[in-house]
Amino acid sequence: MIGTVYKSTGSWYNVKTDKGVFYECRIKGKLRIKGIKSTNPVAVGDVVVFELENTGDETLGVISDIVDRKNYIIRKSVNLSKQTHIIAANLDQVFLLVTLNNPVTYSIFIDRFLVTAEAYHIPAVLLFNKIDVYNDDELTEIKYLAALYRKIGYTCIGISAKTGKNVNKVKELMLKKTSMFAGHSGVGKSTLINAIDPNLTLKTAEISQQHLQGQHTTTFAEMFDLDFDGRIIDTPGIKGFGIVDMQPSEIGDYFPEFFELKEHCKFNNCMHLDEPKCAVKDALEDNKVSWSRYRSYVQMITGEDENYRIDLYGE
Ligand code: GDP
Repeated sequence: MIGTVYKSTGSWYNVKTDKGVFYECRIKGKLRIKGIKSTNPVAVGDVVVFELENTGDETLGVISDIVDRKNYIIRKSVNLSKQTHIIAANLDQVFLLVTLNNPVTYSIFIDRFLVTAEAYHIPAVLLFNKIDVYNDDELTEIKYLAALYRKIGYTCIGISAKTGKNVNKVKELMLKKTSMFAGHSGVGKSTLINAIDPNLTLKTAEISQQHLQGQHTTTFAEMFDLDFDGRIIDTPGIKGFGIVDMQPSEIGDYFPEFFELKEHCKFNNCMHLDEPKCAVKDALEDNKVSWSRYRSYVQMITGEDENYRIDLYGE
């Protein structure tokens, strides 16, 4: 049989088949681990092959194989072992919630998130939340940011999780897909989940509580079916995903607005810093590449981490 992993406790996996039946599965002793080495061979979102256990219990199964993942997100443990943990697999999209205040979402955070999403091959959508509370200047800033990110290919929606404004647009994007929400604590993720499907709130609150109580030492993700055809992977405690093992020379590959320009740089290994005849720097001077994005790019390469608020009129 084939099913999708909805939940993992480390040794047991809740697997749901296309027919909507859940099985509790364990892993076959000699399951060949594919791809990267991680502390968990099977992750939430994985599509697995399993057989019923021979115990007579029709709800127990043994996972014998994992279908190749189309993508996955990982986290490295902070301790010395630096072991890799797969948080979730096979995501169709990630939504990043952004707010201007309470909390502030800095451009560098957005850009790091987008770079990592590109590296993971997961389409990202920006949701500018709390548009019900902004004044005219702040709304102008949101429009500016949305235009900046739309220009380079990202879908941007201004929403209010609280009043429900444009939540239907988010739901439309979620149809028939597996999605994840990210963003700083306080940006409105729980409020948005509640607006999308009120039945989910209880379940996700329960996991957050367990997370707070520290019952899970590793990052704990779980998948839920929505009350329309769509799924959400809840990852409490994860606000974004950090850049993992990325070489500085690779970072430019994840700035979509650099794609075509790079070919016109004098040096084919141009890092777009101080090199002569750099097409990216030329485009920057001509305001065809955003200064804010370029600044984030330089920060990512140099490892500096300076938060700055976009300067609306300085660009
Ligand atoms: P989370 O930490 O990302 O899950 O954020 P929450 O959903 O808990 O929201 C944090 C606070 O922001 C709560 O007080 C919410 O009521 C408030 N909030 C969330 N979305 C909106 C919104 O669209 N407008 C306003 N005014 N407040 C919001």
